[in-house]
Amino acid sequence: MNPNFLQTPIAYLKGVGPNRAASLQSELGISTYQDLINLFPNRYLDKTQYYKINQLQRSNADIQIVGKVVHLKSVEQKKGKRLVASFVDETGEMELIWFRGQKWIKENIKLNTPYVIFGKTNWYNGKFSMPHPEMELLTVHEQGLKIAMQPIYPSTEKLSAKGITNRVTNKLMQQLFLETKGQFLETLSKDIITELHLLSKSESLFNIHFPKNQELLAKAQFRLKFEELFYIQMQLITKKLIRKRKIKGFNFDQVGELFNTFYKENLPFELTNAQKRVLKEIRADLGSNAQMSRLLQGDVGSGKTIVALMTMLLAIDNGFQATIIAPTEILANQHFNGIKELLGNLNVTVALLTGSVKKSARKIIHEQLENGELHILIGTHAVLEDKVQFHNLGLAIIDEQHRFGVAQRSKLWHKNETPPHILVMTATPIPRTLAMSLYGDLDISVIDELPPGRKVIKTVHRYDANRLKVFGFIKDEIKKGRQIYVVYPLIQESEALDYKDLMDGYESIVRDFPLPDYQISILHGKMKPADKDYEMARFVKGETQIMVATTVIEVGVNVPNASVMIIESAERFGLSQLHQLRGRVGRGADQSFCVLMTSHKLSSDAKTRLETMVRTNDGFEIAEVDLKLRGPGDLMGTQQSGVLNLKIADIVRDNDILKTARFQALKLLKEDPTMEKEDHQVIRYAYAQLVKHKNIWTYIS
Ligand code: ADP
Ligand code: MG
Repeated sequence: MNPNFLQTPIAYLKGVGPNRAASLQSELGISTYQDLINLFPNRYLDKTQYYKINQLQRSNADIQIVGKVVHLKSVEQKKGKRLVASFVDETGEMELIWFRGQKWIKENIKLNTPYVIFGKTNWYNGKFSMPHPEMELLTVHEQGLKIAMQPIYPSTEKLSAKGITNRVTNKLMQQLFLETKGQFLETLSKDIITELHLLSKSESLFNIHFPKNQELLAKAQFRLKFEELFYIQMQLITKKLIRKRKIKGFNFDQVGELFNTFYKENLPFELTNAQKRVLKEIRADLGSNAQMSRLLQGDVGSGKTIVALMTMLLAIDNGFQATIIAPTEILANQHFNGIKELLGNLNVTVALLTGSVKKSARKIIHEQLENGELHILIGTHAVLEDKVQFHNLGLAIIDEQHRFGVAQRSKLWHKNETPPHILVMTATPIPRTLAMSLYGDLDISVIDELPPGRKVIKTVHRYDANRLKVFGFIKDEIKKGRQIYVVYPLIQESEALDYKDLMDGYESIVRDFPLPDYQISILHGKMKPADKDYEMARFVKGETQIMVATTVIEVGVNVPNASVMIIESAERFGLSQLHQLRGRVGRGADQSFCVLMTSHKLSSDAKTRLETMVRTNDGFEIAEVDLKLRGPGDLMGTQQSGVLNLKIADIVRDNDILKTARFQALKLLKEDPTMEKEDHQVIRYAYAQLVKHKNIWTYIS
């Protein structure tokens, strides 16, 4: 089969034509034969086989079982009722569950009569269950037609409306196999296929679309998942190798006067060993003639800012400018003030550029940037605008990088002809698996040590009913001179309801903490930047004791004297957000506390989150739990959710396949970096095809 044949426009496939082609393109992004062949089913209806209850597996296939309903009961739950049937065969018992249509089921189901049930099983509380099964009396079923394992394809309402139903998609797929004779070019080497006992490409594609049985389906899925992850790893690793070899970076070979003076005279504390190690890693990059592209991970409060500043000093010592960008104005302001203070009277010029900087001031900044007078530019997204041009940008730092998208990272590349060195920093601990797949092209440094003298933050969970006690505790802490955060969820900045919660909360706090003994600040996203700054500044100076805020203070805010974090409606926050918020305290020498306030109604996920927070302060442990609860898209924040545009593999569930894929990719590139060997030609070719046709990795900048 000529591989170019697969690049034939989909309109030419018999049964498609221009109208359907347009729908397939706009709804599913299918424009060629190749795209259609890579449209993998979401699930399968397996009607080839009857399962016994004791053979059930925790797979996500739909299956059928013959058995009887022996008992029916209604169970009260949070919202309404569910109907539960015990369903038995001669090997065991399971449950059938209905949330809707219960009345009809109750009236029509025949107890102790053989049925064929059909659907997906769940494993819950040590038992298998099937929600909303399709059911048919065995006697009726035996008269009907037996259909084999039927693939269910991704679809959209528009597609079905245009008549492209699952059955049609299925037919098109059959047509495609007819026209291609089911012969597809192999894309993995013999070595890998043999070592991992994989199906061939043609067999895999056949069995993913027309599985003969569960076993072949599982093998086809494994092979295609492996292949997908393998080529992503190939791309990430290659990209890194090329960057190291080819992309010339500015060489910062001077450790000059600014860096040294700062180190000797301005450093307000001894660096931790982890900070020293990371600085060494960064210095090695900067002096290597290649562009640095490094991710710096360090839990909240681990001291990333000082590392960033010292890296910027290295740039300036070598005659370059540097910039640091942060996701919020508050954070940019804080960096600006903090960095200016740290620099003291060192001869370094610093400016702040955010959305609220006035036009006239902005103009001056632009000029000073272009003529090189300005050494350091601190700012928000505003820095990324095309209008902002540097004289010679040598280093760009992105703080709280998980708040930015990949596209923004790449914008920084183009501020110069030679790309600046790039350091991205994040306090979101990224589990290794994810780091591998998302940031496999970056080098990674970790600050895995907190500055000395920090006390572990004590975290407790309290119900709203105990609010008065919590207020009493706040008063005691204020008496000791401490400051307090009270944070309200504001998941959607526009949700009127959330604001009402916040304002009600604020008023009740004002009532319980009256003037003149108590001064209270309030901070939320709808305030004008100048008002925000004002309130923040009062709190930083210690003029107010309580800061009532939304999650705008989530990232980066640093007020060491604030030692109590009260999180209202904590059940509504995700784990990484709770961890970020808690990280706002525990920054000074005093014992810090975090109080998670909730109502009595808690989902089981919410309970897990709260328990995790109470149990541990370890960001990595928290990230692992979070990943299990939510999956990777959410974990990375909405900015990056569609980032990994995977067709078949799942980063969380297919963790082991990912590891295997990375291992094989590394092995191959080490053995034969240019893929010269005979056996590697297929990979070389497939890789070139993928890059050429951009079938995958649309996510890589
Ligand atoms: P993050 O990594 O969350 O950005 P910061 O850079 O804001 O953390 O640092 C948190 C606090 O710890 C700041 O007040 C900073 O001055 C302080 N700090 C950083 N490094 C050290 C150190 N080596 N010894 C003592 N305090 C430090
Ligand atoms: Mg920070």
